[in-house]
Amino acid sequence: MTRRDSILREMGFAPLWRLRQRAAQNTQDVQGAMSPADTVSADSAPLPAVAQAPADARAQRIAAMGWDELQATVSACRDCRLCEQRKQAVLGVGDLEADWLFVGEGPGAEEDARGEPFVGQAGKLLDAMLAAIDLERGRKVYIGNVVKCRPPGNRTPEAAETAACFPYLQRQIELLRPKLIVALGKPAAETLLDVEVKVGAARGRLFDYRGIPLVVTYHPAYLLRNLTDKAKAWEDLCFARRTMKGLSDVGG
Ligand code: SF4
Repeated sequence: MTRRDSILREMGFAPLWRLRQRAAQNTQDVQGAMSPADTVSADSAPLPAVAQAPADARAQRIAAMGWDELQATVSACRDCRLCEQRKQAVLGVGDLEADWLFVGEGPGAEEDARGEPFVGQAGKLLDAMLAAIDLERGRKVYIGNVVKCRPPGNRTPEAAETAACFPYLQRQIELLRPKLIVALGKPAAETLLDVEVKVGAARGRLFDYRGIPLVVTYHPAYLLRNLTDKAKAWEDLCFARRTMKGLSDVGG
């Protein structure tokens, strides 16, 4: 256990959940209390005829990219079928020196049209959520999505699409090295943690994405449909704020 882990535990942020290997236990849920509706679709289409070796080579190329090349590559990417109906790919937006990284699911219609994540109604709510904890889009905050192209009809991205796009998000995180990641909703949490996640069970806990603390809360689009859960999202943001403060204190 690292010194930071010890301090976080003493601060009451235990248990600290570790990233599990993608190939290991993809069906194990966080608390073992999944409902059928929460399970990842098992019949999702596989990666489009991409063999493992070329996929690995592609991931390695992406892992070596800087921001400019990443942006250009994502803009031209046709590596999953989400490219077919997009207006444009949306890499992300914000401070490249961000302490905070918020990760959503994928662009919606307005995001697809404008090329920026979270600019529709859900985006307005996210901005309000940020403001509630004294944060502002673009100031020490970066906002991105699991998939960079809009799923038709705003459906949940399929497993193959998420897998194809994940190397881009991994590279973004590597370049940003944020102090804290906030996963907005189940697809973002499951992609980053590589386990099945029930948001209601995961919220209020501190997870770990490759050494970066991660917290889970509801997606703003969900909150627009479930107003009573806004109070829970507020609790989650306060938890994230406390976590960040603890990290800053530890870091001096
Ligand atoms: S969603 Fe990601 S992998 Fe699929 S086409 Fe868009 S950028 Fe490429």
